[in-house]
Amino acid sequence: MIPYGRQEITQQDIDAVVDVLKSDFLTQGPKVPEFEAKVAEHVGARFGIAVNSATSALHIACAALGLGEGDYLWTSPVTFVASANCGLYCGARIDFVDIDPRTYNLCPDALEKKLIQARSEGRLPKIVVTVHLCGQSCDMERIKALSDEYGFRIVEDASHAIGGKYQGEFVGNGRYSDITVFSFHPVKIVTTAEGGLAVTNNPDLASKMELLRSHGVTRDPALMTHEPDGPWYYQQVGLGFNYRMTELQAALGVSQMERLDDFVSRRHKLARRYDELLADLPVVTPWQHPDSYSGLHLYVIRLKLGELGVSHRQAFESLRDQGVGVNLHYIPVHTQPYYESMGFSADDFPEAMQYYREAISIPMFHGLTFEQQDEVVEALKRALTL
Ligand SMILES: *Cc1c(COP(=O)(O)O)cnc(C)c1O
Repeated sequence: MIPYGRQEITQQDIDAVVDVLKSDFLTQGPKVPEFEAKVAEHVGARFGIAVNSATSALHIACAALGLGEGDYLWTSPVTFVASANCGLYCGARIDFVDIDPRTYNLCPDALEKKLIQARSEGRLPKIVVTVHLCGQSCDMERIKALSDEYGFRIVEDASHAIGGKYQGEFVGNGRYSDITVFSFHPVKIVTTAEGGLAVTNNPDLASKMELLRSHGVTRDPALMTHEPDGPWYYQQVGLGFNYRMTELQAALGVSQMERLDDFVSRRHKLARRYDELLADLPVVTPWQHPDSYSGLHLYVIRLKLGELGVSHRQAFESLRDQGVGVNLHYIPVHTQPYYESMGFSADDFPEAMQYYREAISIPMFHGLTFEQQDEVVEALKRALTL
């Protein structure tokens, strides 16, 4: 089976992890700060806070921004459930904004319309989570302008987008948001096995997220309510979690980050090749906004079902039967039973549902060979003409 995504691990990565195993610190040592600095520097942000997953990073981002009961968090329905669940962890309520049919990202026009309505009803969101689907940035300049007008904060879920750019600058530099979150799950562009990282330019948010990551406990006298009792002293100043990343993971991340540019350019080479090979097939290939240089975590095609004699499901099953590990990113979150029970119904977000009826993620990862890519295309041709 050719998977849709796969990690790329070299001897250099393995050596980096083994070195940590032989060192004094398996956790809370020097590698985590090194990894944080490396990611923050690469993307052009002041602070980086590494945690054990992007899900944890989204949670502490929302908590640091003060999200709580009675607040709303809005995001795109076409995302992994974690982009919305982070709001629920904080006791907030969730709502969604339909997608742009070209980029599949949260649509700024739909956002503006919903904000106007929400203002009149007195239920404006506190946070909007913008998800850079497949690695292509959302229209952040527009969304930031709306945030200035309507007073919400912005968390970028850039789980797909490390190494990608928006308006010529790396995603994560914080020009148009408060906090940006990356994921290092093995299918993503850079991996630490499990892991996530939040970047911000705001020292107050950085310090809050650091506390939240580790029990709400500090050893920094400046953050304490009184002088330390002695050199042993630590103080709990809030309620936090244990969301720490290990030294093993951070060492793998540092090693991986050195190849980030190579990772992203390889994905672009593969995407250009897919674009050409699929040009004459009854599918829509990914449209790229001129402001965006995608991280290209995923390559999603949409079937032109009106021109096909097969259903979406038949094409999908045929690809799997032929050994192509296709996937579907994502089942619109508002249709999940857990969310449906909050009162959402499928047709609340018609563009998201249309996307869901047509989308297939085909293999896209660093080690995918041109020969395997040709196999995928041949399998797709057969799948579309069953
Ligand atoms: C993978 C992913 C997450 C969650 O990442 P973890 O590191 O697995 O917690 C969140 N949002 C999006 C869009 C993702 O793709």
